[in-house]
Formats: sequence, structure tokens, C-alpha cells
Amino acid sequence: MNLASLSITTLRSMLTAGETTPREIVESIATAISAQNDQIGAYLSADLDRALVEAEASDLSKPLGGIPIALKDNINVLDQPCTCASRFLKDAYLSPYDATVSAKLKQAGAILYGRTNLDEFAMGSSTENSAIQLTRNPHDHDRIPGGSSGGSAAAVAAEMAVATLGSDTGGSVRQPASHCGVVGLKPSYGLVSRFGLVAFASSLDQIGPLTKTVEDAARLLQVIAGSDRRDSTCLDVEVPDYLAQLEGGLKGIKLGVPKEFFAVEGLQPAVREAIESALTKLESEGAELVEISLPSTSYAVATYYILATAEASSNLSRYDGVRYGNRVDNSEGVIEMYRQSRAQGLGPEVKRRIILGTYVLSSGYSAKYYLQAQKARTLIQQDYRKAFESVDAIVGPVSPSPARRIGQFADDPLQDYLADIYTISANLAGICGISVPCGQVEHEGSSLPVGLQILGSHLAENTILRVGRGWETIRDAE
Ligand code: GLN
Repeated sequence: MNLASLSITTLRSMLTAGETTPREIVESIATAISAQNDQIGAYLSADLDRALVEAEASDLSKPLGGIPIALKDNINVLDQPCTCASRFLKDAYLSPYDATVSAKLKQAGAILYGRTNLDEFAMGSSTENSAIQLTRNPHDHDRIPGGSSGGSAAAVAAEMAVATLGSDTGGSVRQPASHCGVVGLKPSYGLVSRFGLVAFASSLDQIGPLTKTVEDAARLLQVIAGSDRRDSTCLDVEVPDYLAQLEGGLKGIKLGVPKEFFAVEGLQPAVREAIESALTKLESEGAELVEISLPSTSYAVATYYILATAEASSNLSRYDGVRYGNRVDNSEGVIEMYRQSRAQGLGPEVKRRIILGTYVLSSGYSAKYYLQAQKARTLIQQDYRKAFESVDAIVGPVSPSPARRIGQFADDPLQDYLADIYTISANLAGICGISVPCGQVEHEGSSLPVGLQILGSHLAENTILRVGRGWETIRDAE
């Protein structure tokens, strides 16, 4: 049997009961990768020989002892590549250190063996912006897996990985999870250290798990959450027990349903029906549905694409041909060397964002764009704060449509930006969110997964995990 098709929870109990070994799990992953990765393209690299050696040395008494975890290729692991799916870093960089999440996973006994594909520097929502390879949706190979953590989602969905980590700046864990039919959790800003995550937009970035079950997401969060003196934005808070309330059920839970979410132009009827039917079932299991209003929803996309590109333009200035990766040597001087190294090393979407971000920060325009966007961000935060005064969690779609076809918006990046409407507000507001599979819908002749999004207030991970688990129980009973 393919052990990579099982959850962390199941594998851990099999391991402690002596029913399998870490070696067998790694071998299952190796078999699944050689059978499928050429087609799906989820992994950029995997070091399974080293994983087998580590498997032999596993300490099964640790919480993730013997469990292999793959990481999005923008999270540093000592002595492994970290390409960010960019020509700038490909074949030119090996991590000299562990990200905090990598160190924590290793301490918990996990085997870090593989690197998954992404949109270059996590910029995108289809994984088509990878400069290295295409990733296909395991449910329909002509479609995108979503993004930017498309490789991480596809690897779990195709049963080539037990679980993975991704990063979410505007939806990049939740949206590919929704498109691939797996669970994806974006923690509250500051709960998980960003040290060793390659920065895209530092005020929005968070690392989060992609898993087969809500319980697995809780298990991984338990390990990666917590303060870190190497990330000054990481909060010094006690990490609660994320498994404790998981089976608390839905009785008495107030779920906010934002009316603006259902008025979004482009919300596909099949997605609307799947979400509405899930809401009805949640209600019949004891949750109370409350209509709420998030009036700033319509400003979220514009606000995000100003702030995220502004921060990206600054963060990516470090790729100058001197410090990391690609360098085009040119006798015409240092400026020309910068120019050519960046021109050759960075892809079109990354350049578009650097130019846009530089523009919105430039003197003469920053008051008009950047400062206005900061004000809009405050309004979005206030909307959510107000909503969470009367509800425990907010529910709705993850994306207006199921996974689109590869190449469908090739000449129109704005279409992809607009589809981020349901996910980016959580990053702007710093709150947590989870996407939990909500069944398959018929769309353009394909049967495709759709995710239910559950948003919680800052540090209310326990609430959204409990609601997510409650929904899974209803779904699996059908
Ligand atoms: N789709 C969004 C973007 O392109 C989100 C990316 C992300 O979360 N990394 O910026």
C-alpha cells in the first residue's frame, strides 16, 4: 500500500504500534514520486537517499518521529537548495542554515526530504510563474493546482507526500489547498516564525501546513508555532494545545456569513452551491449562522496589490548579483552588472511587481497609493475586529471558481489578482484562516474540488480548527 496516502495521525499510530517503519514510509514516497512526479511536477527536488538514512535514525518518541515532510522551496533547510522557483537561485544556492520552522520540525523528529514547486518568489496563484517547471492539478492535469504553494498542495493531493508546508502572503496556502482538495491553514500573523522563509511581503507572510486532515494541520501547527528571538514580528505567546478542542463540535458556535462574499462578481454557481449547502449542514449540526457585513471587501484586492508589491520591491533588492545566486559579470561596471543579473535572473511576474512596488513608493506617488493603501488596510482590520465581536468565525468560499485551465489567463494577470478576493483580507488583517475540502463540483466538464474557508480572529486557531473538524465530520458521514 502507498503509505504516503495516509495522514500523520494514522502513520504515527502505526509507527508506535510497530505496524510500519519510517523506512517504509520514505520508500512509499519514493515510489509515488517516481511514478507521478514527471507528470504532476509537484517536487522540484527530493533527497530520498538521505531521507532513508535519517529514517533509520528516527526517534519515534517525538511528536513527528519518522514522519517525512516536504517544504515549499522558499523555506530554508540546511544544505538543501532553496530556489524560490527562480532562475536567480536555481543551481546557485544551498542554504547555509535552517529556517526556524525547519529546525522545529527536525527537533520534533520529522524527516525533511523534499522541495516543492511554487510561483517564483511566491508571487502568483497558479504556480505557472515558476521559472523551473509546471505543476499540474492531480484532479485534472490540464488545470492549475493553484498557488503559490501549488507544489505543496499537489504533492499531498497526489499522495506523493504525507504533509507539506507552504507560505501564505495573500492566500497561497488556502487557495491551492482548495483547488487540490486538501486542508490548508494560514496561522495568525506572528504565530509562526518567518526566520528562514524567503521574504515576499514581510507584513503579510506566514508559513502554514498543507495536510490531508484538520487534525494533521493542528499537529503541524503545534510544532511550528511559537516565539523566536530571530524574528522580531513573532509573538511571545504561550502556544495552546491545538488538539484539545478539536472534537468540541459545532453546538452554539456563531458563524458569520459576509453578505459581500456572495455578491462577488465571478463567483461561480457551482462554488456558491457547494458553500451554501455546507452552511446549511453546519447549521443543522448546531452552528448558528449570522449574516454579517464586511464593507471593505471591495477594496481588499487593490490594497493588497499596492502593499504586497511595495514590500516585495524592497525585499527583492537583495538579489543584485553580489550577495546571492545569479551574477552576470560585465566589464561595464557595477550598475550594468546589477542590471543584467536582475534582467536575466528574474521572471516577468516578479519584474512586474518590482516595477509596480517601486512606483507606488516613489516620491510624488507614495501619498496617493502606498499611504492610501495603509489607511484602507486599517479599515479592513476594523471590519474584521467588529465582525468578531458578534461571531466566533467567518465562513465562505476560498476562491470564486474551481481550478482554472493552465494558460487560461496567460495574457491577463489581473484576472488572477481579482480571484484573490476571499483570501487576501485575512493577511491584511493578520487573522487566521483554514481551507477544508468541501466536496467536488462539476465545472466545465471536470469534477473539481472546492474548499470551505473558515476565518478566525487573531490567535483563534483553536476555533477554526474546531469548526474545520466539525465540518469534516459532517462531510465524512455522508
Ligand atoms: N496570489 C497572491 C499573489 O499573487 C498571493 C500569493 C501568496 O500568498 N504568496 O500575491
